[in-house]
Amino acid sequence: MASIQAIEQTSVHQIQSGQVIVDLNSVVKELVENSLDAGSTSIEVRFRNHGLDAIEVIDNGSGIAPEDFESVALKHHTSKLRSYDDLENLDTFGFRGEALASLCALSQLYIITARETDRPRGTRLEFEVSGKLKSTSTIAAQRGTKVVVEKIFHNLPVRKKELEKNIKREYGKVLTLLQAYACISTGVRFTVSNQMPKGSKSSAFSTNGSAATKDNIIKVFGPKSLRDLVALDLKFDMQPTTSTLAAHDGGASRGVKVEGHISKPVFGEGRSAPDRQMFYVNSRPCGLPQVSKAFNEVYKTFNISQSPFVFANLIMDTNSYDVNVSPDKRTILLHDQGVLLESLKEALIELFESQDQTVPQTKS
Ligand code: ADP
Ligand code: MG
Repeated sequence: MASIQAIEQTSVHQIQSGQVIVDLNSVVKELVENSLDAGSTSIEVRFRNHGLDAIEVIDNGSGIAPEDFESVALKHHTSKLRSYDDLENLDTFGFRGEALASLCALSQLYIITARETDRPRGTRLEFEVSGKLKSTSTIAAQRGTKVVVEKIFHNLPVRKKELEKNIKREYGKVLTLLQAYACISTGVRFTVSNQMPKGSKSSAFSTNGSAATKDNIIKVFGPKSLRDLVALDLKFDMQPTTSTLAAHDGGASRGVKVEGHISKPVFGEGRSAPDRQMFYVNSRPCGLPQVSKAFNEVYKTFNISQSPFVFANLIMDTNSYDVNVSPDKRTILLHDQGVLLESLKEALIELFESQDQTVPQTKS
């Protein structure tokens, strides 16, 4: 027998799934994004034992149609993208059709779903490791979808041990991620709680579906958080470099807006909040280390002792960045990042210079 053989399909699926769902964060992120994509106005995330026993995401979104039950958890099956060309005009978080399939391979997953027209009866769906539909049963349900993930990483012993060992830290990271989604998602009520095996249910945070990100920030970080913030409302044009002229839009300058809130650079006042920096590109939460660095650098020239609270949404043409870089889509490639950073820094300096720099006399 030849020594080079094809890997059996189920094993391929399990290997690849481990790259889509890498940690607790990716589980929660994928499920919450699905709920947002389904047009939900209420999303409840329930952890049991910080997620080690179960993660439940319950939404009041569209629900799943019975004709889609067979394919909902199959790999590369999605309602959001039909061809590669659609990627440019995508307005959903998901598009790979990998999350549910991967979760079937790495956990025990079931779904309860009902559309408006199905209520008060819904369907409970169970799946095989491959994502194939295993069974359905009828069950009372509200409109929307509940996805339950149990025994995460039960078949990846090393990762499971690692998760158990670091569960407090991992849970902390998940809360930070959920806060980022909750703050930007206007009109969506977020409720996040954790239930320990023998303890009572404790609420982590919640928002109330306000139409203003400001209200969400107050709900998540407390009323004091807004006291020292100024509105970010920056606009600048990115002049494309010659090398990108041909590649993109034939030379038109592309406008970028940065909306949100940032700490006032009042010397000796305010809070140091390096862990409270939330960045978004067209409302998609993402890690933007270089942009964060630019914010911190400029802020430091006004206030050497603290890092700012930053909530910044970069609004830009979908042609000027690429989200299809990593499976979790947290990494976003910004074209002309250097130009953007320079313009951003200039605009920030201008904003801070226009602020009143005096130290407040009273502390409340
Ligand atoms: P993707 O989000 O990339 O499409 P997923 O594996 O996350 O891939 O989900 C597969 C499909 O299942 C989605 O395209 C969507 O049609 C459906 N789906 C998943 N979660 C929900 C939900 N909470 N509400 C409604 N439909 C959902
Ligand atoms: Mg998805």
